Amino acid sequence: MAFNKSHFLKLGSSLSLAKMSTDSCGVYDLIVIGGGIVGCATAREMKCRHPELKIAIVEKENALAKHQTGHNSGVIHAGIYYKPGSIKAKLCVEGLKLSYDYLCEKNICHKKIGKLIVAQNCDQVRLLHELYERGLQNNCPEIKLVEKDCLSTYEPNCKGEKAIWSPWTGIVDWGLVCKHFAEDFQKMGGDIFLNFEAIGFAETIESKGNCDLTPICVYSKQNKYLNAKYVLTCAGLHSDRLAVMTGCGLSPRIVPFRGEYLLLKDDKRCLVSTNIYPVPDPRFPFLGVHFTPRVNGDIWLGPNAVLALAREGYSWRDVNIQDCLEMAKFPGLYKLCFKYIAPGLNEAVKSIFYQLSVKECAKFIPSLTPKDVKRGPSGVRAQAVDNDGNLVDDFVFDTGSGALGQRVLHCRNAPSPGATSSMAIAKYISDKLKTDFKF
Ligand SMILES: Cc1cc2nc3c(=O)[nH]c(=O)nc-3n(C[C@H](O)[C@H](O)[C@H](O)COP(=O)(O)OP(=O)(O)OC[C@H]3O[C@@H](n4cnc5c(N)ncnc54)[C@H](O)[C@@H]3O)c2cc1C
Repeated sequence: MAFNKSHFLKLGSSLSLAKMSTDSCGVYDLIVIGGGIVGCATAREMKCRHPELKIAIVEKENALAKHQTGHNSGVIHAGIYYKPGSIKAKLCVEGLKLSYDYLCEKNICHKKIGKLIVAQNCDQVRLLHELYERGLQNNCPEIKLVEKDCLSTYEPNCKGEKAIWSPWTGIVDWGLVCKHFAEDFQKMGGDIFLNFEAIGFAETIESKGNCDLTPICVYSKQNKYLNAKYVLTCAGLHSDRLAVMTGCGLSPRIVPFRGEYLLLKDDKRCLVSTNIYPVPDPRFPFLGVHFTPRVNGDIWLGPNAVLALAREGYSWRDVNIQDCLEMAKFPGLYKLCFKYIAPGLNEAVKSIFYQLSVKECAKFIPSLTPKDVKRGPSGVRAQAVDNDGNLVDDFVFDTGSGALGQRVLHCRNAPSPGATSSMAIAKYISDKLKTDFKF
Protein backbone atom coordinates (compact mmCIF):
# COMPACT_ATOMS: atom_id res chain seq x y z
CA MET A 1 0.00 0.00 0.00
CA ALA A 2 1.44 3.42 -0.90
CA PHE A 3 0.97 6.48 1.31
CA ASN A 4 1.53 10.11 0.57
CA LYS A 5 2.23 13.16 2.66
CA SER A 6 -1.42 13.90 3.37
CA HIS A 7 -1.97 10.39 4.59
CA PHE A 8 0.90 10.71 7.03
CA LEU A 9 -0.45 13.98 8.41
CA LYS A 10 -3.83 12.34 8.82
CA LEU A 11 -2.23 9.51 10.72
CA GLY A 12 -0.24 12.01 12.75
CA SER A 13 -3.40 13.53 14.14
CA SER A 14 -5.56 10.45 14.19
CA LEU A 15 -5.93 9.19 17.73
CA SER A 16 -8.56 6.69 16.78
CA LEU A 17 -6.15 4.77 14.59
CA ALA A 18 -3.99 3.96 17.62
CA LYS A 19 -7.06 2.59 19.39
CA MET A 20 -8.11 0.61 16.35
CA SER A 21 -4.85 -1.25 16.13
CA THR A 22 -4.96 -4.43 18.14
CA ASP A 23 -1.48 -5.45 19.15
CA SER A 24 1.35 -3.40 20.63
CA CYS A 25 4.66 -5.21 20.22
CA GLY A 26 6.71 -2.93 22.47
CA VAL A 27 8.36 0.42 23.11
CA TYR A 28 11.79 1.28 21.69
CA ASP A 29 14.39 4.04 21.58
CA LEU A 30 15.05 3.25 17.93
CA ILE A 31 13.23 1.18 15.33
CA VAL A 32 15.06 0.16 12.16
CA ILE A 33 12.71 -0.62 9.28
CA GLY A 34 14.21 -3.14 6.84
CA GLY A 35 16.05 -6.37 7.58
CA GLY A 36 18.53 -6.21 4.72
CA ILE A 37 22.27 -5.82 5.23
CA VAL A 38 22.16 -2.03 5.72
CA GLY A 39 19.42 -2.20 8.39
CA CYS A 40 21.00 -5.15 10.22
CA ALA A 41 24.55 -3.75 10.12
CA THR A 42 23.34 -0.39 11.44
CA ALA A 43 21.17 -1.87 14.19
CA ARG A 44 24.19 -3.96 15.26
CA GLU A 45 26.52 -0.95 15.21
CA MET A 46 24.04 1.13 17.26
CA LYS A 47 23.70 -1.66 19.82
CA CYS A 48 27.51 -2.00 20.05
CA ARG A 49 27.80 1.75 20.68
CA HIS A 50 24.80 2.02 23.01
CA PRO A 51 24.11 -1.30 24.77
CA GLU A 52 21.56 0.44 27.01
CA LEU A 53 19.27 1.46 24.14
CA LYS A 54 16.18 -0.57 23.26
CA ILE A 55 16.40 -1.19 19.51
CA ALA A 56 14.23 -3.26 17.18
CA ILE A 57 14.48 -4.26 13.52
CA VAL A 58 11.21 -4.78 11.66
CA GLU A 59 11.10 -6.72 8.40
CA LYS A 60 8.09 -7.31 6.17
CA GLU A 61 9.18 -10.75 4.96
CA ASN A 62 9.27 -13.97 6.97
CA ALA A 63 13.09 -13.94 6.91
CA LEU A 64 15.93 -11.42 6.71
CA ALA A 65 17.92 -10.64 3.55
CA LYS A 66 15.15 -11.71 1.16
CA HIS A 67 15.71 -8.98 -1.42
CA GLN A 68 18.86 -7.19 -2.65
CA THR A 69 21.01 -8.57 0.16
CA GLY A 70 20.13 -12.16 -0.71
CA HIS A 71 20.11 -11.66 -4.50
CA ASN A 72 23.41 -10.18 -5.55
CA SER A 73 26.73 -11.14 -7.14
CA GLY A 74 28.35 -11.84 -3.78
CA VAL A 75 31.44 -9.81 -4.62
CA ILE A 76 33.53 -8.07 -1.97
CA HIS A 77 34.42 -4.98 -3.99
CA ALA A 78 37.73 -3.15 -3.65
CA GLY A 79 36.37 0.30 -4.57
CA ILE A 80 37.96 0.95 -7.97
CA TYR A 81 35.04 2.42 -9.90
CA TYR A 82 33.54 5.11 -7.75
CA LYS A 83 33.92 8.86 -8.14
CA PRO A 84 36.83 9.98 -5.94
CA GLY A 85 35.57 11.94 -2.94
CA SER A 86 32.07 10.41 -3.07
CA ILE A 87 30.63 8.78 0.04
CA LYS A 88 30.40 5.59 -2.01
CA ALA A 89 34.13 5.53 -2.79
CA LYS A 90 35.12 6.20 0.81
CA LEU A 91 32.72 3.72 2.38
CA CYS A 92 33.59 0.93 -0.05
CA VAL A 93 37.31 0.87 0.76
CA GLU A 94 36.57 1.27 4.47
CA GLY A 95 33.86 -1.41 4.29
CA LEU A 96 36.15 -3.81 2.43
CA LYS A 97 38.66 -3.86 5.28
CA LEU A 98 36.00 -4.02 7.99
CA SER A 99 34.28 -6.89 6.13
CA TYR A 100 37.43 -9.00 5.83
CA ASP A 101 38.18 -8.52 9.54
CA TYR A 102 34.61 -9.53 10.42
CA LEU A 103 34.54 -12.54 8.07
CA CYS A 104 37.79 -13.84 9.57
CA GLU A 105 36.65 -13.18 13.15
CA LYS A 106 33.36 -15.04 12.59
CA ASN A 107 34.90 -17.73 10.41
CA ILE A 108 32.42 -17.02 7.59
CA CYS A 109 33.30 -18.81 4.36
CA HIS A 110 34.78 -16.32 1.88
CA LYS A 111 37.53 -16.33 -0.73
CA LYS A 112 39.92 -13.53 -1.66
CA ILE A 113 40.17 -14.65 -5.29
CA GLY A 114 40.90 -11.27 -6.86
CA LYS A 115 39.47 -9.70 -9.98
CA LEU A 116 40.50 -8.74 -13.50
CA ILE A 117 38.93 -5.78 -15.32
CA VAL A 118 39.74 -6.55 -18.94
CA ALA A 119 39.91 -4.11 -21.88
CA GLN A 120 39.20 -5.55 -25.33
CA ASN A 121 40.21 -2.66 -27.62
CA CYS A 122 42.14 0.64 -27.74
CA ASP A 123 39.20 2.75 -26.54
CA GLN A 124 38.71 0.46 -23.58
CA VAL A 125 42.45 0.52 -22.81
CA ARG A 126 42.17 4.31 -22.51
CA LEU A 127 39.20 3.96 -20.16
CA LEU A 128 41.05 1.25 -18.24
CA HIS A 129 43.92 3.67 -17.55
CA GLU A 130 41.43 6.26 -16.27
CA LEU A 131 39.85 3.60 -14.09
CA TYR A 132 43.25 2.62 -12.72
CA GLU A 133 43.99 6.24 -11.79
CA ARG A 134 40.59 6.41 -10.11
CA GLY A 135 41.36 3.25 -8.15
CA LEU A 136 44.65 4.77 -6.95
CA GLN A 137 42.86 7.97 -5.88
CA ASN A 138 40.33 5.85 -3.98
CA ASN A 139 43.16 4.03 -2.16
CA CYS A 140 42.17 0.62 -3.52
CA PRO A 141 44.68 -1.77 -2.09
CA GLU A 142 47.45 -3.15 -4.32
CA ILE A 143 45.82 -2.77 -7.74
CA LYS A 144 48.10 -3.07 -10.76
CA LEU A 145 48.00 -3.00 -14.56
CA VAL A 146 48.53 -6.28 -16.41
CA GLU A 147 49.81 -6.41 -19.99
CA LYS A 148 48.21 -8.68 -22.60
CA ASP A 149 51.01 -11.28 -22.46
CA CYS A 150 50.73 -11.71 -18.70
CA LEU A 151 46.91 -12.07 -18.53
CA SER A 152 47.07 -15.86 -18.57
CA THR A 153 49.16 -15.86 -15.38
CA TYR A 154 46.07 -14.53 -13.60
CA GLU A 155 43.39 -16.40 -15.56
CA PRO A 156 44.61 -19.03 -18.05
CA ASN A 157 41.52 -18.92 -20.30
CA CYS A 158 41.02 -15.15 -20.37
CA LYS A 159 41.83 -13.00 -23.40
CA GLY A 160 42.08 -9.22 -23.72
CA GLU A 161 44.35 -6.28 -24.56
CA LYS A 162 45.15 -5.11 -21.04
CA ALA A 163 43.69 -5.47 -17.54
CA ILE A 164 43.61 -4.18 -13.99
CA TRP A 165 44.33 -6.81 -11.36
CA SER A 166 42.72 -6.26 -7.96
CA PRO A 167 44.00 -8.87 -5.49
CA TRP A 168 41.73 -7.72 -2.64
CA THR A 169 38.45 -8.40 -4.44
CA GLY A 170 36.73 -11.43 -2.94
CA ILE A 171 33.50 -13.41 -2.77
CA VAL A 172 31.07 -14.19 0.04
CA ASP A 173 27.38 -14.91 0.61
CA TRP A 174 26.14 -11.47 1.72
CA GLY A 175 22.81 -12.92 2.88
CA LEU A 176 24.71 -15.07 5.36
CA VAL A 177 26.76 -12.09 6.55
CA CYS A 178 23.51 -10.18 7.15
CA LYS A 179 22.21 -13.03 9.30
CA HIS A 180 25.43 -12.91 11.36
CA PHE A 181 24.91 -9.17 11.91
CA ALA A 182 21.35 -9.90 13.05
CA GLU A 183 22.55 -12.66 15.38
CA ASP A 184 25.11 -10.30 17.00
CA PHE A 185 22.34 -7.73 17.39
CA GLN A 186 20.01 -10.20 19.09
CA LYS A 187 22.78 -11.47 21.40
CA MET A 188 23.26 -7.89 22.59
CA GLY A 189 19.53 -7.69 23.43
CA GLY A 190 18.07 -6.32 20.19
CA ASP A 191 14.63 -7.48 18.99
CA ILE A 192 13.69 -8.55 15.48
CA PHE A 193 10.10 -8.61 14.21
CA LEU A 194 9.56 -10.56 11.00
CA ASN A 195 6.28 -10.37 9.05
CA PHE A 196 5.99 -6.72 10.13
CA GLU A 197 5.37 -4.54 7.08
CA ALA A 198 5.48 -0.89 8.14
CA ILE A 199 2.62 0.92 6.40
CA GLY A 200 2.28 4.13 8.38
CA PHE A 201 3.41 6.35 11.22
CA ALA A 202 1.32 8.19 13.81
CA GLU A 203 1.75 10.16 17.01
CA THR A 204 1.11 8.12 20.15
CA ILE A 205 -1.83 9.21 22.25
CA GLU A 206 0.04 9.37 25.53
CA SER A 207 2.99 11.46 24.29
CA LYS A 208 0.91 14.54 23.37
CA GLY A 209 4.00 16.19 21.95
CA ASN A 210 6.25 15.23 24.89
CA CYS A 211 9.36 14.09 23.10
CA ASP A 212 10.92 12.40 26.15
CA LEU A 213 8.32 9.72 25.68
CA THR A 214 8.02 7.61 22.55
CA PRO A 215 5.98 9.79 20.24
CA ILE A 216 6.05 7.61 17.12
CA CYS A 217 3.79 4.65 16.39
CA VAL A 218 4.94 2.45 13.52
CA TYR A 219 1.98 0.53 12.13
CA SER A 220 2.14 -2.73 10.27
CA LYS A 221 -0.04 -4.29 7.62
CA GLN A 222 -0.40 -7.19 10.04
CA ASN A 223 -2.32 -4.89 12.42
CA LYS A 224 0.43 -4.58 14.98
CA TYR A 225 2.29 -1.49 16.12
CA LEU A 226 5.48 -0.48 17.89
CA ASN A 227 6.26 2.76 19.71
CA ALA A 228 9.57 4.55 19.30
CA LYS A 229 11.50 7.71 20.01
CA TYR A 230 13.23 7.58 16.62
CA VAL A 231 13.01 5.58 13.43
CA LEU A 232 15.59 4.72 10.77
CA THR A 233 14.36 3.30 7.47
CA CYS A 234 16.60 1.08 5.30
CA ALA A 235 13.89 -0.30 3.06
CA GLY A 236 15.79 -0.86 -0.20
CA LEU A 237 13.27 -1.25 -3.04
CA HIS A 238 10.59 0.57 -0.98
CA SER A 239 12.76 3.32 0.51
CA ASP A 240 11.03 6.16 -1.38
CA ARG A 241 7.55 5.04 -0.27
CA LEU A 242 8.51 5.14 3.41
CA ALA A 243 10.19 8.52 2.94
CA VAL A 244 7.06 10.00 1.35
CA MET A 245 4.96 8.75 4.30
CA THR A 246 6.84 11.13 6.61
CA GLY A 247 6.56 14.19 4.40
CA CYS A 248 9.75 13.83 2.33
CA GLY A 249 9.71 14.82 -1.34
CA LEU A 250 8.98 12.29 -4.08
CA SER A 251 12.43 12.49 -5.61
CA PRO A 252 14.49 10.36 -5.90
CA ARG A 253 12.07 7.56 -6.78
CA ILE A 254 13.04 3.93 -6.85
CA VAL A 255 12.96 2.29 -10.26
CA PRO A 256 13.51 -1.47 -10.13
CA PHE A 257 16.15 -2.86 -12.49
CA ARG A 258 16.36 -6.61 -12.67
CA GLY A 259 19.77 -8.23 -13.01
CA GLU A 260 19.60 -11.73 -14.48
CA TYR A 261 22.41 -14.26 -14.25
CA LEU A 262 23.43 -17.25 -16.35
CA LEU A 263 25.08 -20.25 -14.74
CA LEU A 264 28.08 -22.09 -16.16
CA LYS A 265 27.31 -25.80 -16.44
CA ASP A 266 29.22 -27.96 -13.97
CA ASP A 267 31.72 -29.38 -16.47
CA LYS A 268 32.68 -25.83 -17.59
CA ARG A 269 33.40 -24.38 -14.14
CA CYS A 270 37.11 -24.98 -14.67
CA LEU A 271 37.11 -22.21 -17.28
CA VAL A 272 36.97 -19.47 -14.62
CA SER A 273 38.82 -19.09 -11.32
CA THR A 274 38.68 -15.36 -10.62
CA ASN A 275 36.22 -12.49 -11.10
CA ILE A 276 36.39 -11.23 -14.69
CA TYR A 277 34.77 -7.88 -15.44
CA PRO A 278 34.49 -5.77 -18.59
CA VAL A 279 35.53 -2.12 -18.62
CA PRO A 280 32.26 -0.46 -17.59
CA ASP A 281 30.47 2.00 -19.85
CA PRO A 282 31.03 5.30 -17.97
CA ARG A 283 27.46 6.43 -18.80
CA PHE A 284 25.89 3.73 -16.61
CA PRO A 285 26.08 2.92 -12.91
CA PHE A 286 26.11 -0.84 -13.63
CA LEU A 287 29.38 -2.68 -13.98
CA GLY A 288 28.49 -4.81 -16.99
CA VAL A 289 28.04 -8.55 -17.33
CA HIS A 290 30.85 -10.30 -15.49
CA PHE A 291 32.03 -13.77 -14.50
CA THR A 292 31.71 -14.35 -10.77
CA PRO A 293 32.70 -17.52 -8.96
CA ARG A 294 30.45 -18.22 -5.95
CA VAL A 295 31.57 -19.56 -2.60
CA ASN A 296 29.68 -22.83 -3.32
CA GLY A 297 31.69 -23.42 -6.51
CA ASP A 298 29.09 -22.19 -9.03
CA ILE A 299 30.11 -19.64 -11.66
CA TRP A 300 27.61 -16.89 -12.45
CA LEU A 301 27.60 -14.73 -15.60
CA GLY A 302 25.77 -11.47 -15.22
CA PRO A 303 23.91 -9.46 -14.18
CA ASN A 304 22.28 -7.64 -17.07
CA ALA A 305 20.00 -4.64 -16.33
CA VAL A 306 16.36 -4.70 -17.47
CA LEU A 307 13.50 -2.55 -16.24
CA ALA A 308 11.42 -4.76 -13.92
CA LEU A 309 7.61 -4.61 -13.99
CA ALA A 310 7.41 -4.98 -10.22
CA ARG A 311 9.60 -3.70 -7.40
CA GLU A 312 10.19 -7.31 -6.47
CA GLY A 313 9.98 -8.55 -10.05
CA TYR A 314 12.48 -11.38 -10.26
CA SER A 315 11.25 -12.55 -13.68
CA TRP A 316 9.35 -11.18 -16.70
CA ARG A 317 6.25 -12.91 -15.33
CA ASP A 318 6.24 -10.78 -12.15
CA VAL A 319 4.01 -7.80 -12.87
CA ASN A 320 2.64 -5.53 -10.15
CA ILE A 321 -0.06 -3.17 -11.41
CA GLN A 322 0.43 -0.62 -8.65
CA ASP A 323 4.20 -0.52 -9.23
CA CYS A 324 3.63 -0.12 -12.98
CA LEU A 325 1.09 2.69 -12.47
CA GLU A 326 3.49 4.52 -10.16
CA MET A 327 6.26 4.19 -12.74
CA ALA A 328 3.91 5.38 -15.48
CA LYS A 329 3.17 8.54 -13.46
CA PHE A 330 6.85 9.31 -12.80
CA PRO A 331 8.25 11.86 -15.30
CA GLY A 332 11.83 10.93 -14.38
CA LEU A 333 11.31 7.47 -15.86
CA TYR A 334 10.28 8.86 -19.27
CA LYS A 335 13.36 11.08 -19.32
CA LEU A 336 15.52 8.11 -18.30
CA CYS A 337 14.01 5.91 -21.03
CA PHE A 338 14.52 8.64 -23.61
CA LYS A 339 18.21 8.97 -22.67
CA TYR A 340 18.92 5.25 -22.65
CA ILE A 341 16.45 3.89 -25.19
CA ALA A 342 19.05 2.03 -27.30
CA PRO A 343 21.05 0.36 -24.50
CA GLY A 344 17.78 -0.32 -22.61
CA LEU A 345 16.25 -2.20 -25.56
CA ASN A 346 19.54 -3.98 -26.14
CA GLU A 347 19.49 -5.28 -22.55
CA ALA A 348 15.88 -6.44 -22.93
CA VAL A 349 16.69 -8.32 -26.15
CA LYS A 350 19.71 -9.97 -24.51
CA SER A 351 17.52 -10.96 -21.57
CA ILE A 352 15.19 -12.87 -23.94
CA PHE A 353 17.91 -14.26 -26.23
CA TYR A 354 20.58 -15.07 -23.68
CA GLN A 355 22.85 -16.43 -26.43
CA LEU A 356 23.65 -12.78 -27.22
CA SER A 357 24.99 -12.26 -23.69
CA VAL A 358 27.10 -15.38 -24.07
CA LYS A 359 28.57 -13.87 -27.25
CA GLU A 360 29.64 -10.82 -25.20
CA CYS A 361 31.15 -13.05 -22.52
CA ALA A 362 33.03 -15.09 -25.14
CA LYS A 363 35.16 -12.00 -25.84
CA PHE A 364 36.79 -12.75 -22.49
CA ILE A 365 36.69 -16.57 -22.54
CA PRO A 366 36.77 -17.41 -26.29
CA SER A 367 35.92 -21.11 -25.89
CA LEU A 368 32.57 -20.25 -24.26
CA THR A 369 29.44 -21.25 -26.23
CA PRO A 370 25.69 -20.95 -25.44
CA LYS A 371 25.50 -24.66 -24.65
CA ASP A 372 27.95 -24.15 -21.76
CA VAL A 373 25.40 -22.09 -19.79
CA LYS A 374 21.87 -22.28 -18.43
CA ARG A 375 19.57 -19.61 -17.01
CA GLY A 376 20.32 -18.79 -13.37
CA PRO A 377 18.89 -16.64 -10.57
CA SER A 378 18.18 -12.90 -10.62
CA GLY A 379 18.18 -9.88 -8.33
CA VAL A 380 16.41 -6.52 -8.46
CA ARG A 381 18.40 -3.32 -7.93
CA ALA A 382 16.71 -0.42 -6.15
CA GLN A 383 17.88 2.24 -8.60
CA ALA A 384 17.19 5.78 -7.40
CA VAL A 385 16.19 8.13 -10.25
CA ASP A 386 15.61 11.88 -9.91
CA ASN A 387 12.86 13.93 -11.59
CA ASP A 388 15.20 14.80 -14.47
CA GLY A 389 15.77 11.15 -15.26
CA ASN A 390 19.29 11.04 -13.80
CA LEU A 391 20.46 7.82 -12.18
CA VAL A 392 21.43 8.73 -8.62
CA ASP A 393 24.76 7.11 -7.97
CA ASP A 394 25.62 7.98 -4.37
CA PHE A 395 23.96 7.44 -1.00
CA VAL A 396 20.95 9.63 -0.25
CA PHE A 397 19.65 10.36 3.25
CA ASP A 398 16.49 12.28 3.99
CA THR A 399 14.47 13.39 7.01
CA GLY A 400 10.72 13.94 7.06
CA SER A 401 8.89 17.12 8.00
CA GLY A 402 6.84 18.06 11.06
CA ALA A 403 7.45 17.06 14.68
CA LEU A 404 7.26 13.35 13.96
CA GLY A 405 8.80 13.32 10.50
CA GLN A 406 11.92 14.99 11.88
CA ARG A 407 12.44 11.94 14.09
CA VAL A 408 12.66 9.63 11.10
CA LEU A 409 15.89 9.23 9.12
CA HIS A 410 15.59 7.56 5.72
CA CYS A 411 18.37 5.82 3.84
CA ARG A 412 16.82 6.41 0.40
CA ASN A 413 19.62 5.05 -1.72
CA ALA A 414 22.20 2.40 -0.78
CA PRO A 415 23.41 1.26 -4.18
CA SER A 416 26.01 -1.36 -5.05
CA PRO A 417 28.51 -1.97 -3.46
CA GLY A 418 26.14 -1.52 -0.51
CA ALA A 419 26.84 -5.01 0.81
CA THR A 420 30.63 -4.55 0.79
CA SER A 421 30.23 -1.12 2.38
CA SER A 422 27.59 -2.17 4.90
CA MET A 423 29.80 -2.06 8.02
CA ALA A 424 31.14 1.36 7.01
CA ILE A 425 27.62 2.57 6.11
CA ALA A 426 26.54 1.43 9.58
CA LYS A 427 29.20 3.63 11.17
CA TYR A 428 28.30 6.54 8.88
CA ILE A 429 24.58 6.29 9.73
CA SER A 430 25.31 5.84 13.45
CA ASP A 431 27.36 9.06 13.39
CA LYS A 432 24.45 10.74 11.60
CA LEU A 433 21.98 9.47 14.21
CA LYS A 434 24.24 10.96 16.86
CA THR A 435 24.31 14.35 15.16
CA ASP A 436 20.65 14.44 14.10
CA PHE A 437 18.99 12.69 17.04
CA LYS A 438 21.61 13.12 19.82
CA PHE A 439 22.09 9.38 20.36
C1 LIG B 1 21.81 -7.80 -8.92
C2 LIG B 1 22.60 -7.15 -7.81
C3 LIG B 1 23.96 -7.38 -7.70
C4 LIG B 1 24.69 -6.77 -6.67
N1 LIG B 1 26.01 -7.13 -6.47
C5 LIG B 1 26.66 -6.67 -5.39
C6 LIG B 1 27.96 -7.16 -5.08
O1 LIG B 1 28.49 -8.04 -5.73
N2 LIG B 1 28.62 -6.62 -4.01
C7 LIG B 1 28.05 -5.63 -3.25
O2 LIG B 1 28.70 -5.16 -2.31
N3 LIG B 1 26.79 -5.17 -3.49
C8 LIG B 1 26.09 -5.70 -4.53
N4 LIG B 1 24.80 -5.28 -4.78
C9 LIG B 1 24.23 -4.22 -3.94
C10 LIG B 1 23.77 -4.73 -2.59
O3 LIG B 1 23.13 -5.98 -2.72
C11 LIG B 1 22.83 -3.68 -1.99
O4 LIG B 1 23.46 -2.42 -2.01
C12 LIG B 1 22.48 -4.02 -0.54
O5 LIG B 1 22.03 -5.34 -0.43
C13 LIG B 1 21.39 -3.05 -0.07
O6 LIG B 1 20.96 -3.49 1.20
P1 LIG B 1 19.66 -2.89 1.84
O7 LIG B 1 19.59 -3.41 3.23
O8 LIG B 1 19.68 -1.40 1.65
O9 LIG B 1 18.46 -3.40 0.92
P2 LIG B 1 17.66 -4.78 0.92
O10 LIG B 1 18.58 -5.94 1.01
O11 LIG B 1 16.78 -4.74 -0.28
O12 LIG B 1 16.82 -4.75 2.25
C14 LIG B 1 15.71 -3.91 2.44
C15 LIG B 1 14.74 -4.67 3.33
O13 LIG B 1 13.68 -3.82 3.71
C16 LIG B 1 12.50 -4.59 3.76
N5 LIG B 1 11.36 -3.67 3.68
C17 LIG B 1 11.01 -2.88 2.65
N6 LIG B 1 9.90 -2.17 2.96
C18 LIG B 1 9.55 -2.52 4.21
C19 LIG B 1 8.48 -2.13 5.06
N7 LIG B 1 7.56 -1.25 4.68
N8 LIG B 1 8.41 -2.70 6.30
C20 LIG B 1 9.33 -3.61 6.71
N9 LIG B 1 10.35 -4.02 5.91
C21 LIG B 1 10.46 -3.48 4.70
C22 LIG B 1 12.63 -5.51 2.57
O14 LIG B 1 11.79 -6.64 2.66
C23 LIG B 1 14.11 -5.85 2.61
O15 LIG B 1 14.37 -7.03 3.34
C24 LIG B 1 24.05 -5.87 -5.78
C25 LIG B 1 22.67 -5.65 -5.89
C26 LIG B 1 21.95 -6.30 -6.88
C27 LIG B 1 20.46 -6.11 -6.92
